[in-house]
Amino acid sequence: MNTKNKFNSTLYYTYVNEDQIDVELLCIICNEPYQSPVNCLHCGQTLCERCYYTWEKQHLTCPFCRQAGSRYVSVITRVVLNQLNRLNVQCILCQQTNIKRGNFFDHITYSCPKQIVICTDKCGWKGHREKLENHLIKCRQKSHRFGFLRKWNFAACTRPTTSS
Ligand SMILES: [Zn+2]
Ligand SMILES: [Zn+2]
Ligand SMILES: [Zn+2]
Ligand SMILES: [Zn+2]
Repeated sequence: MNTKNKFNSTLYYTYVNEDQIDVELLCIICNEPYQSPVNCLHCGQTLCERCYYTWEKQHLTCPFCRQAGSRYVSVITRVVLNQLNRLNVQCILCQQTNIKRGNFFDHITYSCPKQIVICTDKCGWKGHREKLENHLIKCRQKSHRFGFLRKWNFAACTRPTTSS
C-alpha cells in the first residue's frame, strides 16, 4: 500500500465521460478505473491495490479465482499504466477539466488555483493558491512595518531616562 503519500489526490477529481472509459480499465470491486493496479499471480486478474487490501482482509481469497493466500504483484505493463494515466479527469476544486489523470497530482500540488495553501512566509495565513500572490505582497509589507515598530519600541524602551 502506498503510505508514502498521505495526501490522497484521488479525492479531488472525477472522471470526464466516465461511461466511455474502456471496461478493461475498470476494477470489479470499486467499479472505477484502477488505482495502482495489482495482478493475482494465480489467475492473472487485475484489481486496485486498495481494493485488494480491503477485499483480502475480509475474504482471504482472490475475488476472481477464490484461491486462498494467492500473491499479488503490481502491474508494470506500460500499456495499461499509460492508458490509466491518459484518462481525463476534472478537478473538483477549480473545475478545470480534461486534466490527464497522470498529471493530476501535480495539478493539485503545484498549480490548482483553488487548492488551500499556507503563506510561504509562515505568517499563519491560509487561503486559495490564487490569492497567495496578493497576500504575500501585503504580508511582506506588514512584516516590514512590524519589524520597524519592533526596532522603534526597542529604541524607545532603552532610551536613557533623563526626566526622572
Ligand atoms: Zn478498485
Ligand atoms: Zn486470482
Ligand atoms: Zn484544480
Ligand atoms: Zn503571510
